[in-house]
Parts: sequence; structure tokens; C-alpha cells
Amino acid sequence: MALMTGKQYRDSLNDGREVYIDGEKVRNVSEHPSFKPIIDVKARMYDMALEAKYKDTLTTTLSNGEVVSRAYKAPETKEDLSAIRKHVETVLDDLGGVVYRVGDETIGEMWSLFDAQDKLNEIDPTYAKNIKYHIDRVAREDLFHVSANTDPKGDRSKLFSGKDGGTLLHVVEENDQGIVVKGAKFETAAAYAHQAFVKPTILDWNAGSEKMAPFACGFICDMGSPGLKSICRTSLGTERNPQDYPIATKFEEIDTLLIFDNVLIPWENVLFHRSLESAAYIRSTLHRYSAFNYTLRMLRRADYLIGAALLNVEQTGLTHLQAVKEKISELINYREGINAHLTAAVANAERSPGGLMMPNQSLLYTGRVFALANFPAMAHLTRELVGGQLAVTPDSTTMADPEIKQYFDQYYSVGEWTPEDRGKLLYFARDLLNSSYAGHRTTFELFAQSPPFAQQMAVFNNFDMEPQRELVRKAAGLKPSLPVTR
Ligand SMILES: Cc1cc2nc3c(=O)[nH]c(=O)nc-3n(C[C@H](O)[C@H](O)[C@H](O)COP(=O)(O)OP(=O)(O)OC[C@H]3O[C@@H](n4cnc5c(N)ncnc54)[C@H](O)[C@@H]3O)c2cc1C
Repeated sequence: MALMTGKQYRDSLNDGREVYIDGEKVRNVSEHPSFKPIIDVKARMYDMALEAKYKDTLTTTLSNGEVVSRAYKAPETKEDLSAIRKHVETVLDDLGGVVYRVGDETIGEMWSLFDAQDKLNEIDPTYAKNIKYHIDRVAREDLFHVSANTDPKGDRSKLFSGKDGGTLLHVVEENDQGIVVKGAKFETAAAYAHQAFVKPTILDWNAGSEKMAPFACGFICDMGSPGLKSICRTSLGTERNPQDYPIATKFEEIDTLLIFDNVLIPWENVLFHRSLESAAYIRSTLHRYSAFNYTLRMLRRADYLIGAALLNVEQTGLTHLQAVKEKISELINYREGINAHLTAAVANAERSPGGLMMPNQSLLYTGRVFALANFPAMAHLTRELVGGQLAVTPDSTTMADPEIKQYFDQYYSVGEWTPEDRGKLLYFARDLLNSSYAGHRTTFELFAQSPPFAQQMAVFNNFDMEPQRELVRKAAGLKPSLPVTR
């Protein structure tokens, strides 16, 4: 059976990987306090797939009889896309929170590359074979696969300054065993994943300059590879009280600066090499599938905002006010806007160039922009409805102090809401909206699927503009032969 247990996942991380955090070299990543909570979340996801009640939703059986995670089956029909949505929702329901980079979102980037098989075959048929092999392998071995795109960039004029001097990740050697790469990438979850799909960052890969060739590579990197170092940022949940920071202490996903210090990538893991065309292709299609799983998480975050706002105005008796109802309605409008894009993207799904079923690209990319652009407004409305207590309420240990507890009983009791319950709601809302973790999440959401300008480019490039041109041509009586420039 292909499916991994939570324990097997934890044990698999003891593979000699080099992980650093807070000035310490980590000996056992799955037991380290900064990583344990999120590793427990991922382990729970593995165990869920083995529970009878989740079998139909979280797994699927391949034609050869192998049972694999539902998340790793490339979509071939609209039903497959609906099943992916159901998978994400079921996992998030069980976990009771929102995690992004836990495998199902990032595998979609490999499906985008699968769609480029014909082009890759023209360059070198081995690459298309390797891509197919790795897509199957992730499913067969139930691997936790993440995505490394962004190099720390620095001075853009020096990015391609020679074979060994370039600042972007590049190939420094080719030998019988494979390619040797040097460079760095930012990568959420690298320290506790099995492998990453490493690929070029956002740049003008169509520029076609020969000096860019060593940088135009894509490959699968095992996270235990010699020479690879995961240098992690401080966790925002460690040493926090779970009662006061109920989200950060459970769902903190750790970001990593991944250093490739002359790492050997075996030929069977090379997906493309010295191919500017492939670099340009993957950059323009990277989120063709994964934006769906990503935007589903934004929808769930919107639901948490609505829930926090509603419970708060209900306990303080404000719901009947017209102005409060209007603000709740605004939240609902945003939420349903995201939902509408996702639903329509499946209903109007399109056949991909590689024969898979991809969510309707225009609706998916506009949905992602809609969700991200409106999230700050949603958060602000929620903050407004929750009120100032969100920011000023003392923590749970202080509330429980017998010497002063009476004051909380007096000033924090509302009807059937005890001070403890009100505290719980306010701490939850704080971690959703105001804590360091909440701020980090907002930045993650803004950038983790490429920066806003690239998301707008995806909208521009995936909208069929001809019908609008044609409408105006006809209405204004213009010649059909007028040139279209981009
Ligand atoms: C919390 C977090 C987690 C992340 N996780 C991952 C991960 O798992 N994997 C991964 O690969 N990356 C990850 N990233 C990196 C992320 O993809 C990048 O931050 C993002 O792509 C922007 O790149 P940059 O930071 O180098 O910014 P830059 O490229 O320097 O861009 C900064 C800003 O400059 C402007 N700008 C730059 N270039 C242009 C242009 N051509 N046109 C118009 N405006 C421009 C834009 O305003 C842009 O937002 C993560 C980032 C964060 C913050």
C-alpha cells in the first residue's frame, strides 16, 4: 500500500538533513519544539487518509489497484477537480485551522510541467520521462512535495554574471551522475518535507541570452541531499501559551532559506536543464492547478473571519443594528465572491494542453486576485466588529489569577458568556487578525504564490480579450483589420 502513516512520516525526516533555527543545529526535526506542531499536523493528515471514514474522500484507487492520496491524482475530469476541493475542505475541517504548504497545493506545479511534455520532448525526451516518473512517484510513495521558486535576488544587474559568480541558483558542473547546483531559494516547509520541485524564479526568461542557460534548470531535490542546508526563521508559535495563541501554536508553517552548497542532482531527478524555453513555460503556467488549492484556503480564512465577527457581535448584542448587519453582509459578499470564482472555475474547467482537466484559468486567476485583494478589507471589517477588546484583553493566566479573577467576572461576563469563553473568542480573533502570526500569514498570502504584479499578469494573460475588441469594433464601425498590439 502506498499510503504513509503519521509515524512513518515522522521517522522519514531522520534522513541526515541539515536544519538550523535560532542559532541551533536541529538534531531531530520532528521532536524540535519549533517544528513539532506543524509536523504533527502533517502526520495527522497522513493518518486521516488511513481512517475508514475518510477513505472515500482522501484516497483513490489507481487502475493498477494501488491506493494513493486523492490529492496526488492529476485531475482528468471535472469530478476530479470537485474531489480535490472536497479533499482540501475535509482536511481543513478535521484540523480545525488553515495550513497551506502541506503537499496538495504544491503537487499541481508538477502537473503544469506535465502539460509541457510535447515541448520538452522536442528538447530532450528524457525530461518528459522524468516528469512522469516523479508525478507517479509522489503518489506511489506518498511523498510530501514542496516548491522552491524564489531566489534571494539582490542586485538584478548581477544575476547572470558568469558560471560561478551568478547570484541565482545555477548549474556549476555536469558529470556522469547528474548536475551539481549552487544557490539559494526561499521555501516554506522545506525543513519537514521530503522533496522540492526547484525551478527558476520570475524573470524575463524569454530574453534568450546564452549566459542565462546555466540558470534555466528545474529538478527534484531530496531534502536530505548532502550539501543542502535548511536555515529557518524563528517560529512565531514556540513558547507561546496555546490558550492565548490557539492558531500560532498549532499551525505555524516554518519558512526556510534553502542553501544549495554544490548539491548533486542525479540525472533521473533533472526535469529540464539549459532550457530557457522550459523556464519561461513553467513560470507562465506554474499555478495553473495549484492556485485552486491556494484560493480554497483563502475561502476558509474568510469563513473564520465571518465566524469570529458573528460570534462577537452576537455575544455583545449588536447583531440587530442595521450598520452591523451591513458590515456582516460585506463580509459575506467577499466570501461568496471567492466561492463563486472557485465554483465557476470547476463548472467551466478546461482541457489542458497535456490532456488533464484544469480549473477555468481566467476564473481561477481572477478569483485568486479577488481573494487576495479583498482580504485586508475583510480583516479590517472583522477587526472593527470585534472591537478594541481584541487588542487590550489580558492573557488567560492573568484572567485566572484568583486575586483578580473577580474583576473579570464583573467586567467580562455577558449573559451566558463567561469571561473564559469571551477570552477564548478574543484570543482566537487576535491570532486571526492581530498577532505576529496573523501579520506573517497576511504576508505569506500576498507573496507565496508569486507577488501581486505576477498574479495580475496571470489574469491579463489568461483572459480572452477578442470578444470585447470585437464588440467595440462592430459597435463603432471599425475595420476588422486594425492591428492588435500587446
Ligand atoms: C512568508 C513567505 C513564504 C514564502 N514561501 C515561498 C515558498 O514556499 N517557495 C518559494 O519559492 N518562494 C516563497 N516565498 C517567496 C515569494 O515567492 C517571493 O517573496 C515573491 O515571489 C516575491 O519575490 P521577492 O521577495 O524576491 O521580491 P521582488 O522580486 O524583489 O519584488 C518585490 C516587489 O517589487 C516589485 N517588482 C519586482 N519586480 C517587478 C516587476 N517585474 N514588475 C513589477 N513590479 C515588480 C513588486 O511590487 C514586488 O512585489 C515566500 C515568501 C514569503 C513572504
